[in-house]
Amino acid sequence: MQIRENFSLKLYNTFGIDVKAKYFSTFHSVENLEEILNSRLLTPGSLLILGGGSNLLFTKNVDGLVLKNEIKGIEIIDQDNDFIYVKVGSGMNWHEFVLHCIENGFAGVENLSLIPGNVGASPMQNIGAYGVEIKDVFHQLEAYHINEKILKTFSLNDCEFGYRESVFKRKYKNQFVITSVSFRLRKKAVFNASYGAIQQELEKMGVKELSIQAISQAVINIRSSKLPDWKKIGNAGSFFKNPQIPQYKFHELKRIYPGIVGFPFGSEHTKLAAGWLIEQCGWKGYRNGDAGCYKKQALVLVNYGNATAKEIFDLSDEIMQSVKNKFGVILEREVNIV
Ligand SMILES: Cc1cc2nc3c(=O)[nH]c(=O)nc-3n(C[C@H](O)[C@H](O)[C@H](O)COP(=O)(O)OP(=O)(O)OC[C@H]3O[C@@H](n4cnc5c(N)ncnc54)[C@H](O)[C@@H]3O)c2cc1C
Repeated sequence: MQIRENFSLKLYNTFGIDVKAKYFSTFHSVENLEEILNSRLLTPGSLLILGGGSNLLFTKNVDGLVLKNEIKGIEIIDQDNDFIYVKVGSGMNWHEFVLHCIENGFAGVENLSLIPGNVGASPMQNIGAYGVEIKDVFHQLEAYHINEKILKTFSLNDCEFGYRESVFKRKYKNQFVITSVSFRLRKKAVFNASYGAIQQELEKMGVKELSIQAISQAVINIRSSKLPDWKKIGNAGSFFKNPQIPQYKFHELKRIYPGIVGFPFGSEHTKLAAGWLIEQCGWKGYRNGDAGCYKKQALVLVNYGNATAKEIFDLSDEIMQSVKNKFGVILEREVNIV
């Protein structure tokens, strides 16, 4: 077990924020994790589990232990006529896992291509894109209870998945380390190409027959054209969630702003496109120093080089305030503020 002190996290978060961890280490297995947690470095509340650092904004130095997850491995654990059950180490890169599924003909995660980060963080906020969320392919996960020092299994119901939500962000926040995630993937694909942008891209690619490879490639093309590459421009994807408002409120807003973008969410709510609201407030392409709002997608806040976390956080505050003033809608941050 190697513990580093005063360790810079700049290369360990996709925003590229330069903060330091008092202690930093990696774990490669559950046993390895136990060994570190039993060491004397841990005081209550001082532990941060780090995956790919793609959904975090570090606002200060971490006065404790940052543990980078390196548990790897993919294993088929079961199958029946229709499904294949695959268990994946939580430190595996998400997109590498998606590519593995595509190569092996395991269907279900192709719409989730190119999402940064690790498999272990995917259930945290029930990652989603292009009409699919991980809850749609989730089988179960194993997580280590930090205080009780035991491994627990969580079923789909136990995780209480919602829109960018799970028990691990709410009632079990900071209590568990997810060590593996198992997925239930289809042997015969049921394609989900209903998102307009996917259809258009497939046509542009000249695809005649749908396949999981084609959908994955279409998603990769769309994402690459509209999202900033975090290796070049720091960001954490969508900074805000799409807000859900009661339908009557949506109809009121629609009368005033006929172009407002919203999708039915359940029987009584509408999910608004936060990017549209932010754009209408004039933020798209805004830049102050190195902190900004991405020119192609207003939902993404960016660090053009040396922005501080405070500058990015303050910008997010200003955006939230202006959306509230103009539309009476409260935005919620999707990114975890640390
Ligand atoms: C360009 C870009 C595009 C993106 N697009 C999408 C998208 O389309 N859809 C989407 O849903 N998200 C998207 N994201 C956000 C992000 O990629 C996902 O939320 C991803 O799952 C985060 O994984 P991570 O390993 O980087 O997590 P981290 O940022 O390292 O961690 C996020 C949170 O999870 C906790 N955590 C991480 N691993 C574990 C574990 N094993 N056990 C317990 N807690 C853990 C951390 O402590 C932290 O609180 C995007 C981000 C970027 C930069």
